[in-house]
Amino acid sequence: MESGMISVDKWSYGSQAYFLTHLHADHTAGLSSTWNRGPLFCSRLTAKLFPCKFPSFNLFLLRVLDIGSWFSLSFTSPSSGSPTTIYVKAIDAQHCPGSVMYLFRGDFGCMLFTGDFRWEVTGSGVENRRAMLLDALKNETLDTLHLDNTYCNPKYSFPSREVAAREVVDIISSHPKHDVVIAIDSLGKEDLLLHISRELDIKIWVWPERLQIMHLLGFHEHFTTQTSLTRVRAVPRYSFSIETLEALNTIRPTIGIMPSGLPWATEQNGNPFSSSEYIFVVPYSDHSCFSEIQEFIELLRPIKIKGIVSSSSCCIDPCYYFDHLCGTQQAIWRIQAKIENDEGVDTSVEAAEIKSSAAKETKEEEESSTVVGRKRRRILDQVDFFGIRVSRVSLLRRLCRGGVRLADTE
Ligand SMILES: [Zn+2]
Repeated sequence: MESGMISVDKWSYGSQAYFLTHLHADHTAGLSSTWNRGPLFCSRLTAKLFPCKFPSFNLFLLRVLDIGSWFSLSFTSPSSGSPTTIYVKAIDAQHCPGSVMYLFRGDFGCMLFTGDFRWEVTGSGVENRRAMLLDALKNETLDTLHLDNTYCNPKYSFPSREVAAREVVDIISSHPKHDVVIAIDSLGKEDLLLHISRELDIKIWVWPERLQIMHLLGFHEHFTTQTSLTRVRAVPRYSFSIETLEALNTIRPTIGIMPSGLPWATEQNGNPFSSSEYIFVVPYSDHSCFSEIQEFIELLRPIKIKGIVSSSSCCIDPCYYFDHLCGTQQAIWRIQAKIENDEGVDTSVEAAEIKSSAAKETKEEEESSTVVGRKRRRILDQVDFFGIRVSRVSLLRRLCRGGVRLADTE
């Protein structure tokens, strides 16, 4: 895509449209109440929460993209001055309230920006999420995947949030006489707090600004700002420390719970809370762990991957681990998936055929096959690719030779 068209979570470039994945501070750096560079696209929930973070922002700049629907946006090519259209779909990123991924399609091909995301592979809704993502891609090649690589390292392995939430409840239940403080950010971990509230039939204290967000999210009956009503308090992460817990324990017995992927994963070499008898680190993460990232990439098979995180000490360029899943391998995978779908389907009707230059090899292969094998191979040799019936061998050679990107279906 040409520069000067769109920016995702970047606010200082001169672009024609800006896209916000979610409201965490590391994705809004450069955005302010007075920012007015252009239209800002976000999810409906992010738009609702937006004034909490940027109180006097010009809300006429906000453009809501409902999750799961395609939108077409008109742009002007910065180089040629000619009009061009970009299609965009917002997909739930399962990271924090309002968070979305953006899938873009246009003359440039197909690009997916995950923003921060959690791609859980167990629990309810997994198959639906997979199906929605593949449906959004249809049979197109994903040219570039801009990936949340926060925990893109095999040493980061943690359970689903459902499992981790049960662990948190168990810890609280096993300390019935203790006060409890839980470290959270200004947005996120709501599902964890709701789970605790419902399981233990208890309200949770939050600070006033956080209560306002809970009101906007519709969760207000589970939260309070009155300390006398509960022994469980959700506190800002920056205020959570060994020193704070030790000070609290001079007043009342108190335990602290840090829900996070990072300290837990580095437990053996540098968990900052390992020396505290009061602090429990629970692997509740709103980012994908390594195996989930792998599953996500195997599902999409992009041509190219770019990590969106480069400053963290734990992240590694995703190409280091997943380069073998990229490039022309992607196209081969899609062809194979298509073949599996086509097995048993009558292939006698062909709209068009690109003659294979490798007909001889194909014939030799057929001759060495069994009758059943020949029947199967005839199916394999003809692939309905983007509506055109193409010789499989010829197509693979084309893809491998020049890295040609096939034309869009639309
Ligand atoms: Zn985030």
